Amino acid sequence: MILHPSFAEQLLWWGGLWAALAALWGSICLWVDRDARQVFGNALPWNMLFVGVGVLFLVASWQGGLSTLPLSALVVPAMTIGYVALRDTKARPGDKILSAAFARRTGRKLFARLGLEREFDRVFPPPSTSGLVRSGPPPRIVLLKKDGTTVDGRGGGLDRETSQAVRTVQEMFIKAVESRATDIHVEPKSSEEYVVRCRIDGILQNIASIPGEEGRAVLSAMKVVADMDIAEKRRPQDGTFTVLMQDRRFDVRAASAPTNFGEKMALRLLDADGGIVKGGLGSIGMKDSIVEQLREITQQPHGMLIVCGPTGSGKTTTLYAALSEIDVHSKNIITIEDPIEYRLEGISQTAVNVAAELTFAKILRSTLRQDPDVILVGEIRDRETAEIAMQAAMTGHFVFTTLHANDAPTTVTRLLDIGVEATLIQSAVSAVLAQRLVRVLCTKCREPVKLSDDLKEKWGIPAGKEVTVYREKGCPACHGTGFRGRTGLHELMVFDNDIRELLVGRPSIQTIRQAARKNGMKTLLESGIGKVLAGVTSVSEMQRVAK
Ligand SMILES: [Zn+2]
Repeated sequence: MILHPSFAEQLLWWGGLWAALAALWGSICLWVDRDARQVFGNALPWNMLFVGVGVLFLVASWQGGLSTLPLSALVVPAMTIGYVALRDTKARPGDKILSAAFARRTGRKLFARLGLEREFDRVFPPPSTSGLVRSGPPPRIVLLKKDGTTVDGRGGGLDRETSQAVRTVQEMFIKAVESRATDIHVEPKSSEEYVVRCRIDGILQNIASIPGEEGRAVLSAMKVVADMDIAEKRRPQDGTFTVLMQDRRFDVRAASAPTNFGEKMALRLLDADGGIVKGGLGSIGMKDSIVEQLREITQQPHGMLIVCGPTGSGKTTTLYAALSEIDVHSKNIITIEDPIEYRLEGISQTAVNVAAELTFAKILRSTLRQDPDVILVGEIRDRETAEIAMQAAMTGHFVFTTLHANDAPTTVTRLLDIGVEATLIQSAVSAVLAQRLVRVLCTKCREPVKLSDDLKEKWGIPAGKEVTVYREKGCPACHGTGFRGRTGLHELMVFDNDIRELLVGRPSIQTIRQAARKNGMKTLLESGIGKVLAGVTSVSEMQRVAK
């Protein structure tokens, strides 16, 4: 039989299309399987649906010939888009696919492969957080006392002076929330002047100054809201209240104290709705490769993830972001904290109370009797807590915790130092993540500078190559600091067999670090260098936190 040439050509064409569709279908099946596990917590029935429809078309093209191909060329993409739309309704905000952020991320990745990420950033600047300057009407804000009664600037049995002061307090909170402040301090500078300072990106900044008389009225108003004794001005007092602003909710811890010019007040804003952590691991500035590794680890039914770093390095935020990715409906999640910093729905949270002898170790023991799947232990401070937590990690629980240590290898020697058995660490710990926070350069005012020869040599960049980095300057948009917002530097040490074997011989920090680097660990410093070269932060800011 002689084939007509055009028929052979046609066969080749259709055969090629068939093969391309089959390959596309295969990779979509694999992706759906992985993605559904992460988004829905279960690969079924999504993977079976995709495999099933594929097989159906395979059979159809066998039986019905090539005429079925155009149909499958339509059905496969349609099904995929349908799946993506559905998973987006369940996915965390940082992980949605049909979003501008995802398009930007994907585009940036492609350009990064060509070494063009800076050019990309210039054309598509990264989304910035809200600034200090507000446009439009002020957002609605409600101050809620502990008993649930609202205090606002309008009437409600308050005299004119107090209701004016309440409005000042509201303004103060709007400003603080918009500039991402974690603390507000209102303190007398002299008997004629009060200053309001906010802790933004970890650093205190002056945001307003109030005349003495009004300042005292503001203090009284805050004491009313926080249920403090207004007449008592000589002793420190504590109180709590809640601030509702737009769709966010903040628990506020207030503490007053006397000074020689009068009373001062410190307010700590706890983001009661989880805020940023709801976006999951994808939303806290972590490299995609580390996010993927962490997800793989924390989806195991047992094991332990330790996040380490100094105070204020964002350890709790990272743990909560990881925790928020776990399905609260199919898993029993219990946290033990000191204090509770974020409130998450569907999770049972307990606060440590040392005065009432409720220590981490004690609560942890009773927690284990409540059949948890996932336990968050706020901090490991002693051998007893470490040992109970590790026993739990070996017996069908996944444990998240933090430890005060400089980097990942040091965490291991710290655990050995407090007397934890090497064999216990070997079998319980899955990974250690070290973390720091660096301030992000304000894109409105950062200045380009040439990287010095000295640093090029240190960072292993060829001397002849010209490298531009940025340094901070300061403008109205960043309140003169040169920075807006913060991002994390990360160092993830996954416990593999090499590292586990090392532990028995009481290794030095250096030995552990070498083994970890051999297995692909990027250090905090390398993570910092990456952020400097990408123009995210400055050399001096990076060196401030990662030495
Ligand atoms: Zn600026």
